[in-house]
Amino acid sequence: MQDLSRYVRQMRYPPMGEAGQQRLASTRALVVGCGALGTVIANTLVRAGVGKVRIVDRDFVELTNLQRQVLFDEDDLAADLPKAIAAANKLQRINRQVEVEPLVADVSPQNVEELTANVDVIVDGTDNFETRYLLNDIAVRDNIPWIYGGCIGAEGQSMTILPGETPCLRCLMPEPPPAGTTPTCDTAGILGPIVNVVASIESMEAIKILSGNRESISRSLTVIDLWDNRLRQVSVAKLREQMNCVCCQQHEYAWLAGSRGSHSAVLCGRNAIQLSPATAVQLSLEDLAKKLSPLGQVKLNRYLLRLIVDPYTLTIFPDGRAIIAGTDDIAEARTVYAKFIGT
Ligand SMILES: [Zn+2]
Repeated sequence: MQDLSRYVRQMRYPPMGEAGQQRLASTRALVVGCGALGTVIANTLVRAGVGKVRIVDRDFVELTNLQRQVLFDEDDLAADLPKAIAAANKLQRINRQVEVEPLVADVSPQNVEELTANVDVIVDGTDNFETRYLLNDIAVRDNIPWIYGGCIGAEGQSMTILPGETPCLRCLMPEPPPAGTTPTCDTAGILGPIVNVVASIESMEAIKILSGNRESISRSLTVIDLWDNRLRQVSVAKLREQMNCVCCQQHEYAWLAGSRGSHSAVLCGRNAIQLSPATAVQLSLEDLAKKLSPLGQVKLNRYLLRLIVDPYTLTIFPDGRAIIAGTDDIAEARTVYAKFIGT
């Protein structure tokens, strides 16, 4: 039996109790994206004593992250650590009772089944709709509760999806907003406190689900503007009957089937493009480093290879994925990828 003494304040809350705590310890959560929202969510769930927390993130720590991404520090930046690894290192020092599993990967139709296998809840720490629609597809298909959250500027929103019971993300938004029409953290900026609020709402919803308190989850879309001090609960209960949703009513999973979505992504607020190979590869970063070192400045650690060749900085992962900074043009990024990594 696990020593529960660190959770005594949490167990004193009647709906949690010792039974809820023990239940929490036997569950698994998947946190997708470990940036602003994801670091707060992972921090909260690990401290609360969720049995296993799997963290998936495709990116590495950058200077502009430190303003709001609470698990990272200047040492992580200096070590060029992927976010999932830096987060897991810190979280294990916070609570060794929890099994933290970091995965440096981009969630795609190819790997999403494996990533969501045996999890009791999926919590949204992403910054893009492509990944969210993919998560919505698998959550609805496999009947996994999932919690949507997003924020920009000083505003944010969250909705909990219990498949078969409450509306899904596509009942709320049948199609993702067209690229370029929504503000990004590049154009609108982002303030730390709204991240903490939205991530805390998501974490609380996850804790309710995992501790066996499903009846207490929110049945509304929560919309918050922290600058104007407004919190609204938008009723969404009727959406399931009204929308005849392609996903949760007609059971068409276009994002999961890969007929929607792409292998490239413009990264939010970064002047950078992510490119993924169409088929799975396993690169030897050491061999690649030898090949690339005559061409520019090469840095290598266990998790990634960095090539600086003016005006670009390429960060290459063992799965063949690359983040190419120095351009926001996908075609240009593809050319750079082909030139240095190959196709
Ligand atoms: Zn739906």
